[in-house]
Amino acid sequence: MSRIAYVNGQYVPHQDAAVHIEDRGYQFADGVYEVFAVHQGSLIGEQGHMDRLDHSLSELRIDWPMSRRALSVIVREIARRNRVRDGLVYLQITRGVARRDHPFPADTMSALVLTARRMPSLDKEQLRKGVDVITIPDIRWARHDIKSVSLLPNILGKQQAREAGAYEAWMVGADGMVTEGTSSNAWIVSKDGELLTHNTSHGILNGITRLSVLEAAAEAGIKFSERPFSVDEAMQAKEAFVTSSTSHVKAVTVIDGQPVGNGHVGELTSRMLDLYVDFIEAKGGPKNTATWN
Ligand code: PLP
Repeated sequence: MSRIAYVNGQYVPHQDAAVHIEDRGYQFADGVYEVFAVHQGSLIGEQGHMDRLDHSLSELRIDWPMSRRALSVIVREIARRNRVRDGLVYLQITRGVARRDHPFPADTMSALVLTARRMPSLDKEQLRKGVDVITIPDIRWARHDIKSVSLLPNILGKQQAREAGAYEAWMVGADGMVTEGTSSNAWIVSKDGELLTHNTSHGILNGITRLSVLEAAAEAGIKFSERPFSVDEAMQAKEAFVTSSTSHVKAVTVIDGQPVGNGHVGELTSRMLDLYVDFIEAKGGPKNTATWN
């Protein structure tokens, strides 16, 4: 089956899909994106993704290319046309096409591109195979809450992780605190048994998966704290995991070459995966989607 993309008003064969060379996303990374998970034919966390998209667009003063309702129809349609039952929908909005010049152009329409891709269905057994993370300096700009297409530090970090044989790199601020992964949020169960993830701030992207896991934990009466944790605290943690729309809840068993806890996938991590899957299957995604920075 050939893949279909959506580009500025048209569904086109994926191999023919193209944008203008003066699209500001291409020239300046002047745009934002979202990645929606599709699980068993359902879009996960749609409200959260749309609310976060609204935050990113308004912080950068980029116009919505169409109404939220119309965009939601296209998100579903691109998944349908690509027969994605399990996978992802990628959505990107840039400030549009204009003669190359740094200030915002006048009267330029924002540009919209969507693609969809099938992926293997969520596999708990795979997710419970622990992965390695490494820690690297966080060299990004100061607004991680905006889901900008400007991902150079993230891709350099991910490549460094791959070359080190690791799955993810956790980025560490000048204060020694772990902010997040290059494409995921970072979690630990501290040596005192406390479930921890960085609080919402300009320092992290507030993940839709992160929000689902927090709501699922609250429903199950599991205590957690949203606060930064240091690399030292992570090295002494009992358990660790990462969350994202494509990694779901993925166990981390090695940090910088050292085993986390006893080196096996943690009990709470394993439970959070079950709770997360139950939560998205029952609720479709997080309800508490008001805070983005
Ligand atoms: N943090 C960063 C830097 C990311 O790029 C991502 C996802 O791409 C996340 C966190 C997790 O966000 P979500 O759970 O919405 O996929």
